[in-house]
Amino acid sequence: MPRKPLLEFTDRGIYCPQGKFYIDPWKPVDDAVITHAHSDHAYLGHKHYLAHHLSREVLKYRLGDIQLQTIAYGETINKNGVEITLFPAGHVIGSAQVRVVYQGEVWVVSGDYKTEADGVCEPFEPVKCHHFISECTFGMPVYQWKPQQQLFDEMNNWWRQNLENNLATVVVGYSLGKAQRILQNLDLFNGKVYTHGVIENTNEALRRNGIELQPTTRITPDTPKEEVRKGIILAPPSAVGSAWMRKFGPYSFGYCSGWMALRGAKRRRAADRGFVLSDHADWNGLISAIDATGCECVYLTHGYTASFTRYLNEIGFNAREVHTLYGTEEEEAASPQDSPTNLPKGEASNEGEVNKVLSAGEDLGEVGILGGAKDLGEAKGGAI
Ligand SMILES: [Zn+2]
Ligand SMILES: [Zn+2]
Repeated sequence: MPRKPLLEFTDRGIYCPQGKFYIDPWKPVDDAVITHAHSDHAYLGHKHYLAHHLSREVLKYRLGDIQLQTIAYGETINKNGVEITLFPAGHVIGSAQVRVVYQGEVWVVSGDYKTEADGVCEPFEPVKCHHFISECTFGMPVYQWKPQQQLFDEMNNWWRQNLENNLATVVVGYSLGKAQRILQNLDLFNGKVYTHGVIENTNEALRRNGIELQPTTRITPDTPKEEVRKGIILAPPSAVGSAWMRKFGPYSFGYCSGWMALRGAKRRRAADRGFVLSDHADWNGLISAIDATGCECVYLTHGYTASFTRYLNEIGFNAREVHTLYGTEEEEAASPQDSPTNLPKGEASNEGEVNKVLSAGEDLGEVGILGGAKDLGEAKGGAI
């Protein structure tokens, strides 16, 4: 009788029947391996969590007093005869790919990943495997990221111009990942970095975990507005359009997201500047990462799964589309209107990708699920 696959897709998440554990499950389970602390991967309610050391403090900040075991990259632990090893995913600090090995059969679950080294988290490491479960959030040719140095040079110049024009500078990015990547690349010769409470809570959790970040000042009701206006304000997507943000005006407001590659995305968000910055792999990054695994079969989760699966099969991979509850909450919390499932006709993208984008959107089954993603961390941190 043929053996069951080592990993299977269930209504609770990715399951290893032999090892009796789940990877990033979205319903409560006894034993959960967590790729990273974003809320569509790290849910509340599991009995036991396993994650990377550098996810420890952020997981505890977001999920409270959980039973958590942490390990290093490259460290192997055994569950019921199945070997589990974490490898860097290059997505956010502490993010990991999970390699699962049993009797010579090797599976890798990517979690979210990006292939460009960002200088903040451990860079992505390709891992050889027979079966690769990969995200494909930005699996469309329109998504091609610039080298980050170029983008941050533009951001620092924009900040300088704002200072010359007596404008405050507000830069918006998701609180875990994007915010630290921006922070570490800001030129503090321009001024100080002021943070929204949600971002500062995350920074503090990471500092407790031993991560060294550039200095930041938390904005409180007592922080003088004129001081803040001389620096740069780091804010999460939830602050956009809020009274909290308006009180620092007049300002120039820049939005950082992979979706900024789409025409109309900046205007829909009323942003003055759109920075195409993502912690996910772009089109070329996805294909090179999948190729580097040498896998026999690749399973695609969240993103443009249908069209990307079709394309991979056309160029000779053995690809399958898988429906999961993973969203891209770090992007979509702020921009449900730009998600692959909700692109407005005629504004879908540039470079002639309109039809492809729309058909990808129609093929996705997760519309309601993606829209329902809620970020516990943001809710818990609250606005100040
Ligand atoms: Zn993520
Ligand atoms: Zn994700």
